[in-house]
Amino acid sequence: MSSMRSTPYIHIYSRSDDVTGSCSLVTAYLSNKKTIRFLVDCGAFQGQKDNQNLLNESVPFNTEKIDFVLVTHTHLDHVGLLPLLVKQGYNKNIFMSFPTYNLIDIPLRDAYKINSKCTDTAIYDQEDLYKTFSLMVGVPFNKMLKPMKGISVIFKKNGHLVGASSIEVIIHDPSGEDIKLLFTGDYKEKNVFFDIEKVQLEDDSSYPYSAIICESTYGDVDSTDSMFYPCILENINKALWNGKNVISPTFGIGKTQEVLYLLKCGQKRNLFPKNTNFYLVGGIAQEATKRFQYTDLGIKSEMKNFIPQNFYMLKGHQTSQDIIKLFDDSKPNVIIGPSGMADAGGIRKFVQKAISRDDILIQLTGYCDPSSIATKLLNTPIGSNMLIAGKPITKRCQVEISKEISLHAKRDELKKMLEGKNTNSILITHGEAKVREKFREYLLLNNICSQIEILNSDFVFEIDSSGIRDVFPSSF
Ligand SMILES: [Zn+2]
Repeated sequence: MSSMRSTPYIHIYSRSDDVTGSCSLVTAYLSNKKTIRFLVDCGAFQGQKDNQNLLNESVPFNTEKIDFVLVTHTHLDHVGLLPLLVKQGYNKNIFMSFPTYNLIDIPLRDAYKINSKCTDTAIYDQEDLYKTFSLMVGVPFNKMLKPMKGISVIFKKNGHLVGASSIEVIIHDPSGEDIKLLFTGDYKEKNVFFDIEKVQLEDDSSYPYSAIICESTYGDVDSTDSMFYPCILENINKALWNGKNVISPTFGIGKTQEVLYLLKCGQKRNLFPKNTNFYLVGGIAQEATKRFQYTDLGIKSEMKNFIPQNFYMLKGHQTSQDIIKLFDDSKPNVIIGPSGMADAGGIRKFVQKAISRDDILIQLTGYCDPSSIATKLLNTPIGSNMLIAGKPITKRCQVEISKEISLHAKRDELKKMLEGKNTNSILITHGEAKVREKFREYLLLNNICSQIEILNSDFVFEIDSSGIRDVFPSSF
């Protein structure tokens, strides 16, 4: 049936139904009967979904038919299943920006370590991991890449994270009709660590995108919302001067370094007692922090020194006694590290030991899954019990949350970005299902584009140069 349709066109399918498991398969049908297939990202599913293990066990594609893979950035929900793809037979190029190339081994090695600890559920082995590394190619920003005949790709820097890219893909059909796509990836306009140069590319806006595939993490909230008001420094300032220690769960790559920079700024403004010590726990966070300082990731030279004074990396395993000793230390301490939801990583044990103490502030810094320890901490009143590993612990610690350090654009910022582009259609992805709906309504209301649909695992969209022309249930 497909061959009866006028060519060229593409089919696009996405595995993701929320904010994890980012992975889009694009199949291009050309007028010369050729077919080109590529993936944008191949991420792991995270959180507490019922079918999560199943989703992370295999990738539902015929890997031999995929011609190339593009990677937007190095977070595991975008790259975590690359080794699985390779295990399933994929053996061609995996393209990414140079900074992403210089960071990507950190999360993948860590994921492998965690994965291989539970041997009966290990989904790929070390050989698959190393083979994955060998297929990776780092490419410059804003340069035309030709992964194969008839395809142009441009990685455009975006502020979500060091190395993060929005990716433009142009499929050149022999008939002269092109299909032009933009994958925003996880998107933010700016980043404290690097500048985003305004680069005028030759054929940039000469003709519209056929479709923009746009993230929607904060598609239901404006940047002016009170949840983004800066209060972290104020909270830590009060706590330290009141004789408390501070624990701040963060995410290892990107968020941790932004929190460290914020602390450095607070220190410069004399907000903390002079003898405050700053500790970083967690292997991923420590390694990423060193790379931010010393590896070529395109970070501004004045931002390479983002570390506060009196800063220490706590290496290796911390025993309960080590942790309590630090808490009882006469000096004020700020301890930061992953995971941001306090469920895993180096910070988990510190949080568990802190719950019953009234001399500690736990400052959360971002999104918390409803089932996470962080959410339990927020929802349990002081003096009430919370269950940790089956044991009741009375909560006495202070808990605060702020989303002031956010790696994603809010809906008004996404709207501004989309307004500056000429596109025939928009497909909304990477957001909670309800948020995708709200973001769609918001964009339609603001007349951003007449064709706006939600991309999720239920449907495949058919797109030609003029936009969406059909949609049907996915067979994956
Ligand atoms: Zn991300």
